[in-house]
Amino acid sequence: MVMADLMRKTEEEWKKDLTPEQYHTLREKGTDAPFTGEYWNEHGKGMYVCAACGTELFSSDTKFDSGTGWPSFTDTVNLEHVELRDDLSGGMQRTEVICKKCGSHLGHLYMDGPKEKGGKRFCINSSCLTLKKSAE
Ligand code: FE
Repeated sequence: MVMADLMRKTEEEWKKDLTPEQYHTLREKGTDAPFTGEYWNEHGKGMYVCAACGTELFSSDTKFDSGTGWPSFTDTVNLEHVELRDDLSGGMQRTEVICKKCGSHLGHLYMDGPKEKGGKRFCINSSCLTLKKSAE
């Protein structure tokens, strides 16, 4: 992704364009309550895009039931579309997942995912995603 593709808005603009719930997760690094939200138990086919900017992030083909109550994926559709950043907040050592295009928080990456699929678990907030369902 080149610099010209980046989307940057002021926090005032984000506040106007997002729901309060989305603003909290995407812009204030909040976390959806587990087993709530639109997608933790969604099994439809399609592409999950960034709820803030529409960048393609995760294919439903990589979604799996992690039991955590959050939408979980074994991989991104393109690693270039996300930024991974060390996150030491809350006394934990975690890897934050950020939308590279708009700089919004998406969730975290853990390495306790399905081993046969590479071991990654992208734990992403429903409120940070929009599922574009594929025609069936
Ligand atoms: Fe985005």
